[in-house]
Parts: sequence; C-alpha cells; structure tokens
Amino acid sequence: MSRVVVAGGAGFLGSHLCERLVARGDDVVCLDDLSTGTETNLLRLEGDPRFTFVVADVSSEVPVEPPVDAVFDLASPASPPAYLARPLETLAAGSEGTRRLLELARRSGARFVLASTSEVYGDPEVHPQPETYRGNVDPVGPRSVYDEAKRFAEALTIAAHRARAVDVGIARIFNTYGPRLSAEDGRVVSNFCVQALRGEPLTVYGDGTQTRSLCYVDDQIDGLLALRDASVTGPVNIGNPDERTVAELAEKVLSITGSRSQVVHRPLPADDPRRRCPDISLARRALGWEPKVTLDDGLARTVAWFRERLAT
Ligand code: UDP
Repeated sequence: MSRVVVAGGAGFLGSHLCERLVARGDDVVCLDDLSTGTETNLLRLEGDPRFTFVVADVSSEVPVEPPVDAVFDLASPASPPAYLARPLETLAAGSEGTRRLLELARRSGARFVLASTSEVYGDPEVHPQPETYRGNVDPVGPRSVYDEAKRFAEALTIAAHRARAVDVGIARIFNTYGPRLSAEDGRVVSNFCVQALRGEPLTVYGDGTQTRSLCYVDDQIDGLLALRDASVTGPVNIGNPDERTVAELAEKVLSITGSRSQVVHRPLPADDPRRRCPDISLARRALGWEPKVTLDDGLARTVAWFRERLAT
C-alpha cells in the first residue's frame, strides 16, 4: 500500500488514475484547482476512506506533508482551447507547479511521475516519433505555452533526478480519449461525439488529412501505472500507434452513433501538427506495456458514455 499524490486528479486522466490507484489499495490525495477539472469527475470516489480531495493550485502551494510514496504530476490544462485560454497559468503549471511537486517527492524519497506530452515533438519531421526525436516546436508559436511548459517540466524533472537523486519517470502522453472527456474543451473526439449525438455538423478542421493516433483511457492509465511501478526514467511514449486521419475519425463516429450529421470543414488552427504517431518500442521493452483497446471498441464505449451524459 502506498500514499500517492495525484496533482490534476479531478481532470480527465487524473480522475481515472485516482480511481485505479484506490482500487488497487493505495491511499490517494488528489490536488486540483478545478480550472479545467471538475468535482463531478470524482463522484465515484466520494466518501471513500482511501481518497482525499484538496482544492489547490500547485503553482502556488502543495498542501501535502511527507511522507508520500509517489507523486503524479498531471496538473495542467491539456486541450488546445483550454491552454490557449490560460496561457500564463499553463506556463506556471509546467514550471512552478512541477518544481513544487518535485520538491515534495524529494523530501519524501517518493517516485515522481511527470505527465508530459507528445506536444514536446511539436509538428514532427520524424515519423513515427521515438523518444530520441528532439522535436520541432516554435517557442513563440500559439501552442508554445503548452509545448514549452511541458518541455521545461521535463528539463526540471531530469535535473531533479540528476542533481538531487529524485526517482523520476517521464511519460510522453499521446492523444487519449474515453469517458469523462469534457464535452466543452474542444478536443476532436469529444467534439465529434457530441456533434454526432446532437445531430449537429461534425467540424473537421482543414481538409481532415492530418493524423492523430488515439489511445483509449484505460490503456493510458495502465501505461502510467506501469511507469509508476518501474524504475524507468524515460522519457517514454505512452500512446496507441494506430494512426488515423481526422476525416476517417469523423466517419467512424458517424457510423458508431448512426448519426445523419453532415461533415463541415472549418479553418485549421495555427500550428496544428500534420501527423502524430508514437513509436512505442521503448514502452513495450521497458514497461512490458502496449495498448489493447481497438479504436472501434474505445469509440463505442466513449459514445455510450456521451449518450448517457447528454440524456441527463
Ligand atoms: N480537430 C477537428 N475538429 C474538431 C476538433 C479538432 O478537426 O472539432 C482536429 C484538430 O485540428 C487536430 C486534431 O483534430 O488536427 C486533434 O485535435 P485535438 O484538439 O483533439 O488535439 P491536439 O492533438 O491538436 O492537441
């Protein structure tokens, strides 16, 4: 049994992670400032003696005292509209927030797991992306608030490891979807599911030939837990290499929902990466992990969840 801190625990990934940690017998302290996460995501954990929720912005305080056994740093806005609406807060989360959480891990002798991102590769010129690829990021581009915050968070994390002997693991998380994606935060899977179920047009940005590789949330959490339990420093890509175009994804959502919605095209956001696909050789080798849930199966589960949510 471990005492585990999950910063960003009321978010999409964080809330699934908290549930899985509690289910395996850990005591969980969830920190979240509720800027993009919601207490609704934590309803299943309410009243559980193994679970504590504290409202806190980790960029200004980490109200947890040692000892803890592990610290997960997932505290950041993560969807493009969410981080673009909170540019300075996003940079603070990846710098001051990560620094404070690393300090808690150092004082506790705890393992620290950083939720980094495929966005550190920017608009990649190497495909698929292995961890050794250094990325193509514009430091003053519109996405830089998130990309550079996470790149800095990785730099801080590896520095804490090298200079202060903190036990760290860096996960580079690729696009992940599933129940509890926010209907409002503008990501492709949530937008398409909600639009299809409401009979509204599906908004494909650009010509829809850009690609993403989508990982179902349960697989993603398996990967993060494997990294917590390993002694791998990484960075290690955690994602599903099943690469699809955005247009193909729209068609899939239409067929799974049985919706008669039209597909409309909208302007491509500035700096939208053309292609993205993880090379997960390292995760397979070092963590014995690979995703299991197919896109059809994962989308069906996600659509079922949105259908229920929109009905209430
Ligand atoms: N996208 C789209 N329609 C939408 C939302 C997103 O075509 O309603 C596209 C977006 O331009 C990008 C991809 O889907 O190419 C994934 O976008 P998302 O915001 O989910 O995540 P990103 O990988 O860009 O961070």
